[in-house]
Amino acid sequence: MQRQKMLYEGKAKRVYEIARDDAYLVEFKDDATAFNGEKRGQIANKGALNNQMSAHFFRLLEQQGIRTHYLETLSDREMLVKRVRIIPIEVVVRNIVAGTLAKRLGLAEGVDLGRTVVEFYYKDDALGDPLINRSHALALKLATREQLDELEARALAINESLTAHLHACQLLLVDFKLEFGVTADGELLLADEISPDTCRLWDETTREKLDKDRFRRDLGGVEQAYEEVWRRLQQA
Ligand code: UDP
Repeated sequence: MQRQKMLYEGKAKRVYEIARDDAYLVEFKDDATAFNGEKRGQIANKGALNNQMSAHFFRLLEQQGIRTHYLETLSDREMLVKRVRIIPIEVVVRNIVAGTLAKRLGLAEGVDLGRTVVEFYYKDDALGDPLINRSHALALKLATREQLDELEARALAINESLTAHLHACQLLLVDFKLEFGVTADGELLLADEISPDTCRLWDETTREKLDKDRFRRDLGGVEQAYEEVWRRLQQA
């Protein structure tokens, strides 16, 4: 498919216009960043793996009635998606304590939260994506009250679906980040990606980290971890 103007280049993806007004082409890159862009690197073959894994998760969610922007896998690194305006809120869902939650609340990493926690972050690189609450989101006009309710409800439904699916792969879904968008017709869709870049995934038995924390924390074996997740997903 012929790429036209590049609309956006993010840390891990590029988004292009194509010759249809209801879709975009997304290209997945091998670039990896962490700590708000302070740490940069490459993870070999990550673009292709994340493209495959995201498509896998989007298809699974669609089968379960959760609408996503996914249309088609075009090539190794290219995905065709519905055109949406991204809501500038990162929705983080947590089942087990890790990352910034451990630091912020002084909790030990690995503790089961006992209930699912949903958080909103304001998607703004210059501000370092700060944690916000519903009234901040409303005051900043990032979304309507109804949309915030819907983001939370969908995030919980996605968590249930992904947790069960990953359990079948002997993977623990520790936490993950979602982004949503609105089509020209006003339809709210899950957008962005679902991959080991955006999810913390631990082996259920050994609790070995099989996600971007291997890159963030210099644990080594980053490529192998992404490949292992994809291998297990294909067997599920
Ligand atoms: N996350 C993400 N992009 C971000 C921030 C977080 O995909 O810009 C994901 C991250 O991979 C993890 C979850 O959201 O699965 C919660 O991340 P956390 O708030 O602990 O921050 P981090 O430790 O990733 O900086």
